[in-house]
Amino acid sequence: MEIHDVVIIGTGPAGLTAAIYAARASLNPVIYAGSMHGGQLTTTTEIENFPGFEHGIMGPKLMSDMTAQAERFGTKIIYETITKIDASKRPFKLWTHDTEFQAQTVIIATGATAKTLGLPDEAKLMGRGLSTCATCDGFFYKNKIVAVTGGGDSAMEEANYLSKLASKVYLIHRRPEFRASKIMVDRVKANPKIQMMIPYAVERALSDQSGVNGLMLKNLESNKVEELKVDGLFMAIGHKPNSDIFLPWVDVDSHGYIKTTNHTATKTPGLFAAGDIGDPNFKQAITAAGMGCQAAMQAQKYLEGHS
Ligand SMILES: Cc1cc2nc3c(=O)[nH]c(=O)nc-3n(C[C@H](O)[C@H](O)[C@H](O)COP(=O)(O)OP(=O)(O)OC[C@H]3O[C@@H](n4cnc5c(N)ncnc54)[C@H](O)[C@@H]3O)c2cc1C
Repeated sequence: MEIHDVVIIGTGPAGLTAAIYAARASLNPVIYAGSMHGGQLTTTTEIENFPGFEHGIMGPKLMSDMTAQAERFGTKIIYETITKIDASKRPFKLWTHDTEFQAQTVIIATGATAKTLGLPDEAKLMGRGLSTCATCDGFFYKNKIVAVTGGGDSAMEEANYLSKLASKVYLIHRRPEFRASKIMVDRVKANPKIQMMIPYAVERALSDQSGVNGLMLKNLESNKVEELKVDGLFMAIGHKPNSDIFLPWVDVDSHGYIKTTNHTATKTPGLFAAGDIGDPNFKQAITAAGMGCQAAMQAQKYLEGHS
């Protein structure tokens, strides 16, 4: 059975950056793409904060260029999903639905999927008024009216962040109680640009050719449905890190993010984690790429010491 030096799981910015570094270090990396080759950025339009692109770049184009760059140095891309890993001893064993293979080191770059509300036409309106990331998309709503839905710290953070750009922010939440810390809720309540809408649930987004132009909200006390004029809705209801299959071999925090020490090392020597999967805080393409670089260099160092 073939034993690879470096197997990378996930082809988002973290995985592909790890592949570029590992390939240029002659480690012949093999990278598994899973169900979303290119990762989360393939679901969005313009990326304006990835350095090097003065006028921005479309998410899918950035990811196809990263793929081509990784392939140019000899990365082998396999368009399959890893279903299981046994990291009890080296070489590690890995499985897809019909193949078993081995690896001396593994870089987990499986990302964290933003949870969404499952609204009608949601997929069609993502990037056209619906978003899951204020840092990424807030700039497009300068002086516009937006809504944020959620009741945790990240919803409060997104509302505050957006209030510096948008002309008005509605914070929509289903219950009078919040999961967010009191200090974050108090900050939102004190912000004159933010109006709380409680207890409301978003039923659907209204749109025209240019994207979202309103929301239908249900008042959960009266059951009445009301229209709210907004230019965008930010869904801040949490992320699901794709860490389930690694659980026996890594420590995770209470949300499932992989805990690392010394940059990208997990509790299992030779098993590294990079990108959103190990980052509950920043979740940006540039930070994911940076962690991918670190993981590849740490895998290389590990292999040198354990040949
Ligand atoms: C709509 C949207 C807009 C965004 N806009 C911006 C922006 O403007 N700027 C910015 O910096 N960031 C932006 N982000 C955030 C950015 O996309 C993420 O921070 C970044 O993609 C994280 O990269 P990653 O490599 O860690 O994981 P991801 O991009 O999530 O990639 C994960 C990869 O792992 C694969 N995978 C998962 N499980 C398995 C498995 N079992 N086997 C094999 N493969 C697997 C997936 O198929 C995918 O290829 C945006 C995110 C979204 C959702």
